[in-house]
Amino acid sequence: MKKIQTTCNYCSLGCNLDFYVEGEPGAERIARINPAKEYPVNRGFACIKGLSLDRQISERRSPLPLIRNDRGLRETASWDAAFKHTAQRIREIQGKYGAEGFAAISTGQLTLEEMALLGHIGRNCLKINVDGNTRLCMATSVAAHKQAFGFDAPPYTLADLEYSDTIILIGANPVVAHPIIWDRIRFSPMPHKLIVIDPRRSETARNADEWYGLKPKSDLTFLYALANLLIEKGWIDAAYIEKHTEGFSEFKAAVRSFTPQYAAEITGISGERLLALAETIRRGKAVSCWWTMGVNQGYEAVRTAQAIIAIALMTGNMGRPGTGANSITGQIDAMGSRLFSNTAGLYGGGDFDNPKRRGAVARALQCEESLLALKPTIPYNAIVENINAGKIKGLWILCTNPRHSWANNETFRTAAENLELFIVQDIYGDTDSAELSTVFLPVVPGIKKEGTMINTERRLSALRPVLPKSGEEKNDMEVLLGIGGALGLEKEVSLWRTPKGVFNLMKECSRGMPCDITGVDYDGLAGSKGVQWPCPQGASGLAEERRLYEDGVYYTPSGKAKFIFEQPLANPLPQSEDFPLYLNTGRGTVGQWHTQTRTREVAYVADVSIKKAHAAISPGLAAAKGVNENDVIEITSSNGQRARFYARIDSGLDDAQVFAPIHYIETNKLTLSVYDSYSKEPSYKYAPVSVQKVAEGGRL
Ligand code: SF4
Repeated sequence: MKKIQTTCNYCSLGCNLDFYVEGEPGAERIARINPAKEYPVNRGFACIKGLSLDRQISERRSPLPLIRNDRGLRETASWDAAFKHTAQRIREIQGKYGAEGFAAISTGQLTLEEMALLGHIGRNCLKINVDGNTRLCMATSVAAHKQAFGFDAPPYTLADLEYSDTIILIGANPVVAHPIIWDRIRFSPMPHKLIVIDPRRSETARNADEWYGLKPKSDLTFLYALANLLIEKGWIDAAYIEKHTEGFSEFKAAVRSFTPQYAAEITGISGERLLALAETIRRGKAVSCWWTMGVNQGYEAVRTAQAIIAIALMTGNMGRPGTGANSITGQIDAMGSRLFSNTAGLYGGGDFDNPKRRGAVARALQCEESLLALKPTIPYNAIVENINAGKIKGLWILCTNPRHSWANNETFRTAAENLELFIVQDIYGDTDSAELSTVFLPVVPGIKKEGTMINTERRLSALRPVLPKSGEEKNDMEVLLGIGGALGLEKEVSLWRTPKGVFNLMKECSRGMPCDITGVDYDGLAGSKGVQWPCPQGASGLAEERRLYEDGVYYTPSGKAKFIFEQPLANPLPQSEDFPLYLNTGRGTVGQWHTQTRTREVAYVADVSIKKAHAAISPGLAAAKGVNENDVIEITSSNGQRARFYARIDSGLDDAQVFAPIHYIETNKLTLSVYDSYSKEPSYKYAPVSVQKVAEGGRL
């Protein structure tokens, strides 16, 4: 029996798993999956999603492409025919509507090398816009880090969870969304206090020492008031502020008006409780703040993330074990997308208009500078809007399902209908998006692929094939190269033909940058403990767990971290008489992933998940509406859409809140086309709605 260590390609932890494979060549079978004991992230643990990765080999998949014919039917085609057809249609669309008449959207589920190759073919060679679904989860943190730290460089190592005596989770629910993080908190040997700040008494909040259930979209005011209180009480680290930061006096003056009394009105959290939190932070020797989608998916999310950074900076909780303002990513390779996709920035970081970086990247890629994209991509929302405005007529999406996951998702349905060419590259041909495609390109799942992933703590790890591809099967890289070849780009992709070749190009692009990975050996990553960036060439004796900013030096021109303040904005779409409630969204259960295209294959998950869309309301709201558990309710959104859900009753919600899991297409039918102004990340966590009961314990 062979043992193959690979990376779980679901969530941002990137756990490593040992697959035991038996059988003769051509008849290999996965006999067992064990969480890798020595891997520093998961240390012998894994969740049901990772332990069920062998399920993605089902009959649902077809190995051959599908092309929609003139009668609107999807017909099987050979790979050669599909590549030629796709390339010809791309050229026709670009010829008719201009280069930017075609666009692409990728995902944090692809490997670093696949994203890099798509960025090369799409952004460099075709001169099109390419964004990723990482825009939906991490764009806020990227913008917050760049402005405050000078580079998109999250500070922490996951071991900081175990060195922390005060763990503050803001808009994060690791019990469901990041189970390994939850395990590490729960079993931390360090006695600690766990504080959760979240409008919903989530699964994690129910297990916390303290829960701050603030009103929706009041987090920025709450954090500014907390900062003001810490400053007024003198519970700050003046020496750290002086030596390692800039902009503190302006920040201090700006937050002065955020008194506990004022904040209590906006947030619903009393001055006494705010003071208690400030005292907890003062007493903590190692305070760490962790945030994820509850912060990132808001209309003023970047400033909210920066308020968390400000609190960590002013209290000197940066760069030491157990500290940090730490953003947790969502998808396994979101960090790979952020640095090596050639979309919002050049490979390895840096701006498209920076001549020095352009020269360095062109040298690394052994190409003319003129081949490189000239500007950042337009963001996801602008791609969808431009399709609906008739400016983009062709779209290629890779391993993502925007018909389901895009905010206000009926706008994507309209977009798909407006397209002349809609290419979907995915494991499954029956996703909500793939069903609308004009060209479907089937690819193998992660257990048959090779490449590199970068997890939430900047750790590179190896994805290695557990099973061989069979027959006509192709992986994402082969499909990208097939289309590239049919487009006549053989010369341009000549150095990009293997995952190792692409990785080595990316290494060169990172040289001298904060995310320098020139010291990482592609082959050496296999079976290893992974390596966190930076890892420059010649680096030796690097610790297994490394955090950034231990020397207090940041990536800004001055080397100092920045305090950034902006007056909280008026809610662009507040609750009203017609829409007196608000919809909050999030993950449902630990076994469900995103739009459920993959986890529906896991019998155990399917057996314990609710099949139809469901939404939770408080006992008070249920009583007011005469709703019992399992009754059918209709939720009407201020975006003009309505959808039906089974009702759940949840005492963790206030009477104005409705919570719906993201795994059902109905949920994002109701979310808004509202975005953070800096990151353009959608405000998924808040939509004014109304609720009506439509049927007793019955059928949708
Ligand atoms: S889904 Fe996340 S927590 Fe679960 S095994 Fe995979 S990487 Fe680990």
